[in-house]
Amino acid sequence: MNKIFKTFISFFFPERCPYCLKRIDCGKIACDECSEQLPETYNMNYAKGGYPCCSPFFYQGIFADGIKYFKFRGYLQSSEKIAVILCECIKKYYDVSTIDFVTFVPMHKKKLSDRGYNQSELLAKDVSKKLGIPFRALLIKHKENMDQHKCLSSAKRRENVKGVYKAVEDETIKGKTILIIDDILTTGYTLGECAKTLEKYTNSKILCATVCAKNDIYT
Ligand SMILES: [Zn+2]
Repeated sequence: MNKIFKTFISFFFPERCPYCLKRIDCGKIACDECSEQLPETYNMNYAKGGYPCCSPFFYQGIFADGIKYFKFRGYLQSSEKIAVILCECIKKYYDVSTIDFVTFVPMHKKKLSDRGYNQSELLAKDVSKKLGIPFRALLIKHKENMDQHKCLSSAKRRENVKGVYKAVEDETIKGKTILIIDDILTTGYTLGECAKTLEKYTNSKILCATVCAKNDIYT
């Protein structure tokens, strides 16, 4: 893009810090204040079933705000900026040269049409682009269920996601290493169910990564 065109675009669609929505220069991934809060170390947890899941942030402070702006208020350009940090985290914990496909936690078609986009899909596409790993939609949410955050107990969350996903039937994904992207790791039941569903169909190695992890996922 030439400079005049970039200036024109940034006038009408200013780049914003994904964590506080302050205007930032084109190409930056956060404002100066939020950049100072970006973590130097990341964290590794496990989705239910023991699938590894790395996350650059905990779900708190500016990072929880960033997810809310992106997920509920339509700041879609946040995806590319957040994906930069997510990719750093993925490279730290996994050998990316061994990953064959990047995929995402799907939404039910009704919810997708209500929201208009799936934030995890956008992130997965950006991660795929930045890491140079092919993107594929490998899961379908074929049953509608309650939102996980509305389930009040761990047992309810476990029951709520059981059998709601199915793998896309595609012989070429069998035996491959697959990375599943989602926005938040809470109890790990959603990602665990997705990982189990894909593992069962593909007999693949399944890795996970989310932008945020809840501090208290094991309580
Ligand atoms: Zn900021």
